[in-house]
Amino acid sequence: MKTVSAIHDLWNERKQLAEPVGFVPTMGYLHEGHLSLVRAARAECASVVVSIFVNPTQFGPSEDFSRYPRDLERDSALLEKEGVDLIWAPTPELMYSSDFQTWVEVDQLTKTLEGERRPGHFRGVTTVVAKLFNGVLPQKAYFGQKDAQQAVVIRRMVQDLNFPIDVVVCPIVREPDGLALSSRNQYLNPQERQAALVLSRSLKAAKEAFGRGERSADSLREILLNILHAEPLARVQYVSCSDPVTLQEQKGEISRSLLSMAVYIGNTRLIDNCLLG
Ligand code: AMP
Repeated sequence: MKTVSAIHDLWNERKQLAEPVGFVPTMGYLHEGHLSLVRAARAECASVVVSIFVNPTQFGPSEDFSRYPRDLERDSALLEKEGVDLIWAPTPELMYSSDFQTWVEVDQLTKTLEGERRPGHFRGVTTVVAKLFNGVLPQKAYFGQKDAQQAVVIRRMVQDLNFPIDVVVCPIVREPDGLALSSRNQYLNPQERQAALVLSRSLKAAKEAFGRGERSADSLREILLNILHAEPLARVQYVSCSDPVTLQEQKGEISRSLLSMAVYIGNTRLIDNCLLG
């Protein structure tokens, strides 16, 4: 396994890789959720490239860019064990020169949900993912359903800009008690860690109600909110029952839906979601 940072070193290494190349973009501080993507890529591709880059342009000014956890040595050891061929770990200066001025933006799909609450976030995501794709030139790229809107937005970008890349979306990996794995979970103290279970618990309750025949978007949102509001350490930023394709908020009767939420547990902002139907 090799590690490169500069784009020319990446291109040199890329030439030697067996095709097809599978690519997993990450911000590092890897957990089993990331590794599930790596394993899917390993199973389906001749070579696997992982990028580790905490991308400054997708963080808002009041967000956690500088304190986001980083540990390249630990990440490298985990990826070596998974049989990864190449790590690309650039620095912000290598990715964004001082005269950088080209951005990739997906329009409608980024106006709701996370995009609505994190202005500029998806512009940063799509720009960096486009740059990562142009560096790695993979045949397949792996993303997690954990970031449901991101997956939809990246698919749109790939289609709209003719990237010759197959986007694969892998299921959410959870702790045994239901908490969706996230690098940000390490911000939680023990009491908050317990309170954070309210996200997956509320989704499970809504999913069960859907299973029993509940089809009202309002009722499903209410089920989520009632459970979330009962947890004193939780502060709900939004809950949503949206169309899984357009990401528009749903009204009336639904047949399928993306239930999603962002909830602060203490100062830590957590997201979770599930698909219905
Ligand atoms: P990040 O390092 O947070 O940017 O995540 C890198 C990739 O891993 C993204 O495609 C995420 O959706 C995915 N990912 C993060 N957490 C999970 C999880 N718990 N289960 C599955 N995929 C995940």
